[in-house]
Formats: sequence, structure tokens, C-alpha cells
Amino acid sequence: MRIVLLGAPGCGKGTQAKKLMADRNIPQISTGDMLREAVASGTRFGEQAKDIMEAGQLVPDNIVLGIISERLTRPDAADGFILDGFPRTQQQAADLEELLDELGVPLDAAVLLDVDFDILMKRLTGRRTCSLTGKLLNVYFSPQEELDACLNAGGELIQREDDNEETISSRLDVYREQTEPVVGFYEKRDKLKKVAADGAIDEIYERLLQAL
Ligand code: AMP
Repeated sequence: MRIVLLGAPGCGKGTQAKKLMADRNIPQISTGDMLREAVASGTRFGEQAKDIMEAGQLVPDNIVLGIISERLTRPDAADGFILDGFPRTQQQAADLEELLDELGVPLDAAVLLDVDFDILMKRLTGRRTCSLTGKLLNVYFSPQEELDACLNAGGELIQREDDNEETISSRLDVYREQTEPVVGFYEKRDKLKKVAADGAIDEIYERLLQAL
């Protein structure tokens, strides 16, 4: 299975991609995670990306394309992949199409996780990661036991640098202006599937499986 997960920041792409990865044994490829790793380890790409990410803007297409082309040719992506957070511009979508054509592995589907903008703000401002397990949690929506389990085990609930209100609002603007047109790109190619992404994580996952 080769798919793209599309949707605004906070729509649940990462959460759903992780579930699908565990079920289907194919990698989740998140440009956001790879860029955060590059920033943390101070690579050249990381240096270039840091301030842009903190401002909630998009890292230049050539940088993300370089990261993606290297990643897609690794052996674990040979049987499929879930792209999470890429493509984010029409140019990236066209470049991905060309790259997959060259590799002879066309995309099966692009799934849009569709959610109202007012829900997104709470999902993003409340989002935390357990420092011990890497589990994604939310101070507004996760059961208290799960939040306590992380803290009681000596972990911390880490908030992403770009999950503050100011950066979130730029990220949502960037999504509307630059990423929403990517939905049309896949609609034209008859590859788009829409999934209602409100409600419980498992319900959304069921809808995602149905759509696929
Ligand atoms: P994410 O974790 O997907 O929300 O991405 C976090 C940040 O990384 C974004 O706000 C962008 O600054 C950058 N980023 C991630 N993916 C891309 C992409 N495909 N194109 C450009 N910038 C990206």
C-alpha cells in the first residue's frame, strides 16, 4: 500500500499513520519528524530548516524533496509507505508523482483527513508527547490515566516548539494557502478519498480502513 495522508495540522495524520504502520508493517514517513530530527542533530538541512519551522512556514521544496527521495529508496519502503505531511505544495505533489514514476511505484490513494478548523486549535495546543514512550497524548482529550502513567513513570509531557498559538495560526494559514490545492491535484487524478476526522481515534481509524 502506497498512500499519502493529507490534512491540516492537527487533523490526526501522525496518529492515524502510526496505527496503520503497526497494522500493515509499512513505514510512516513524516517529513515533519525527519526535519525535527535534522534540527535536533544540527545537520546542514536542520540549520536551514530551524527558523522556518519555528515561524510555521514551509521549508523549501528542494530540501524536503531531497529528504523524501533518499527515504523512499530505502529497503523498508519497498513494500509500501504512508507519507505524512508530504506533499504540502502543488510543486511537491508534482515532484512526488515524477519520483514515483521513475521508481515504477505509483501511489494508490491520497486520503484527506477532514476536520473543522475550530477543533484543530484544541488538538494542537493540547498536544504532548511522552518523553519515555513517544506516545502522542493530548491534555484536553487523553484519559487522565494515560497522562498520569507517563508522569508517574518519571516521563515528561513534551510540547512541540511549534505548537504555540502564534505559530499554529501561521501553520493553518499556510495550509489554507499552499496545501489545500494539493487536494485538487489528487482529485483530478481520481486518487482522493475523504475521511471525516472528528471523533475518537479508533472510530476515525475504522473510517480510514473503509476508505482504503
Ligand atoms: P508537521 O510535523 O508535519 O506538522 O511539520 C512541522 C513543520 O515542518 C511544518 O510546519 C514545516 O515547517 C515543516 N515541514 C514538514 N513537512 C514539510 C513539507 N512537506 N514541506 C515543507 N515544510 C515541511
